[in-house]
This record gives sequence, C-alpha cells and structure tokens, in this order.
Amino acid sequence: MSPIFVGQTCMPQDAVVPGNNSSCTLGGFPSYSLNVTTVAQIQLAVNFARNQHIRLVIRNTGHDFLGKNTGEGALSIWTHHLNDIKVTHHYESAGGRYSGPAFKLGAGVMVYELYDAAEREGYTAVGGECRTVGVTGGYLAGGGHSPVTSIYGLGSDQVLSVEMVTPDGRFITADETQNTDLFWAVRGGGAATWGVVTSMTVKVHPKTLVSGMEWDTTTVAMNITDDVFWKAVEAYWTRYPDFSAAKAYGYCRMSPLPGGLGIRLARQAVHGAGHGSRRL
Ligand SMILES: Cc1cc2nc3c(=O)[nH]c(=O)nc-3n(C[C@H](O)[C@H](O)[C@H](O)COP(=O)(O)OP(=O)(O)OC[C@H]3O[C@@H](n4cnc5c(N)ncnc54)[C@H](O)[C@@H]3O)c2cc1C
Repeated sequence: MSPIFVGQTCMPQDAVVPGNNSSCTLGGFPSYSLNVTTVAQIQLAVNFARNQHIRLVIRNTGHDFLGKNTGEGALSIWTHHLNDIKVTHHYESAGGRYSGPAFKLGAGVMVYELYDAAEREGYTAVGGECRTVGVTGGYLAGGGHSPVTSIYGLGSDQVLSVEMVTPDGRFITADETQNTDLFWAVRGGGAATWGVVTSMTVKVHPKTLVSGMEWDTTTVAMNITDDVFWKAVEAYWTRYPDFSAAKAYGYCRMSPLPGGLGIRLARQAVHGAGHGSRRL
C-alpha cells in the first residue's frame, strides 16, 4: 500500500517484465519478518528486538496510508494469521458498563471477516468501508469510522477489552478495571504506539437495515458548465447537516477531468435498527 515509504525500490510490476534487469533492493522494507501465530512468539520477538536494539514494526494488512507498518532494517511482526473470532452472546464487561453480545477478535481479523461473522450470528458490527482493512490494528487504534458510526459511534467506542504485549514483553489485559491508562490510549491514541495488540473484544449490535446509493456529477458527461457544477457542490454540502441528522455516512471525491471539473459523490444512508437486514 505504501510504495513511496519503502522507497519504490522493488515494485512487483518491475520484477515480472521480461527482459527487465530490475535491480530490486530492500529499500525501506524490514529485513526480517515473523509470521506469528501465538502470543509467546510475539513476546519473544519484542524481547529479542529490545535486547538486540533492533527496530521493531508491526504489520497487519499493510493499509496504513503513511507506511508506518514498514521500516528499513526492522524486525517485522506480521499478525495476519491471528484471525480467531470468538462469539459471546451474553458478555458482561469488566466494570459492569456493558452487558450484551460481543466478539473477541484476533489481531489479524479483517473487516470482511468481522462482517461475515456478524451476518452468520445475526448481528451488525462496526467496521470500516474497506473490507480488507484490519479491525484491531490501525483501524480501532485510529478511532475507526464506519457506515453505522452515526448510529453506534466510532469503532473505538465498541472496544470492551484489549489483550496486548507491552514493550517490556508482558502480556496484559486492559479494560475498565485494569491497565486503564492503556485501555484509554489504545482506543484512538494511534497504532503501534503502546504495544502489540493480540486481540480486542468489541460490542456487536442488533441487525440494522442499510440502504445505499451513489452518483456522479461530471461537467463533460452531463454537459453542464463549471458554474452549474459548483452550484451542485454547494447544494450538496449545504444540505449535509440534514443528511447527517438522518444518519447518513458518505465518501465524496472530487477530481479534475480534461475540459472541466468532475465530482463524484458516493453516499450510503443508514436507518434505525430492527427493520431487517442487509450485510454491512
Ligand atoms: C482502501 C482503504 C479504505 C479505508 N477505509 C477506512 C474506513 O472506512 N474507515 C476507517 O476508519 N479507516 C479506513 N481506512 C484507514 C485504515 O483504517 C488505516 O489505514 C489503518 O491504519 C489500517 O490498519 P491495518 O492494521 O489494516 O493496516 P497496517 O498498515 O498493517 O497497520 C496500520 C498501523 O497499525 C499498526 N498495527 C497493526 N497491527 C497492530 C497490532 N496488532 N498492534 C499494534 N499496532 C498494530 C501498524 O504498525 C501500523 O502503524 C482505509 C484505508 C484504506 C487503504
């Protein structure tokens, strides 16, 4: 996802062109990568890197826009195969603030795996728009917006408990009653900062009806002037507080086109719970 941050030193397309004497180098890639499947392996990696003064990075899906999952010469912990999902229909949170269904997600679980499990079990889960983003890595540690955020809050609002390996190699649980400072920090305080998350337990919600739509407004294709185009932009954003109050969620992209400007608005509207189901 982040070729610029690894120096564009070894692009896959260069390596497969016949006759291309590509001189791939590691560039900003890690030197070592560990495909971890247990907490003990993560503890060993953290302790080894600390004791040997080796740079340590954590890689989940590689979706980080800023390339923070990579680092020159580093030891990389790859969490992809920590993909267990444990379903609890009647979860009681430590501290007693939440009682209801919850999923315990391994660090490698991706959004589509969470959505598939929620569909199977009859719930709606809070996850991102991109189905291959990792849930408990950068997504929840960065807050995490979702098509159902206007109903259920951010991704980080769903977290009930976190298991992680701290930089000193301890395996701890952070929740409302223990390690409360870390519990606060990992829910929006930035990924790869507080330790290696091995799992998070998150709330899930009753099945929620969702409807979606998208449209394009393009000066060339619709044969409209730039003035009309900008009026459409203004009309859309002027009404956005209404859309937001109606619990809409959307992405908006604006891009220049040859001969004029084009805009693409993609919106998904979400209605209240309990009216039916469509996979999110
Ligand atoms: C196409 C696309 C669509 C997106 N859509 C959404 C969206 O709808 N909503 C939204 O909120 N965001 C969205 N994002 C942003 C996404 O949430 C962030 O890029 C996020 O950082 C990705 O996390 P990751 O764990 O999948 O990726 P990675 O790149 O593997 O990791 C991201 C960061 O988390 C750290 N990290 C990973 N695993 C762990 C762990 N177990 N413990 C501690 N640190 C860890 C990494 O070191 C890195 O710093 C989108 C991104 C893309 C590329």
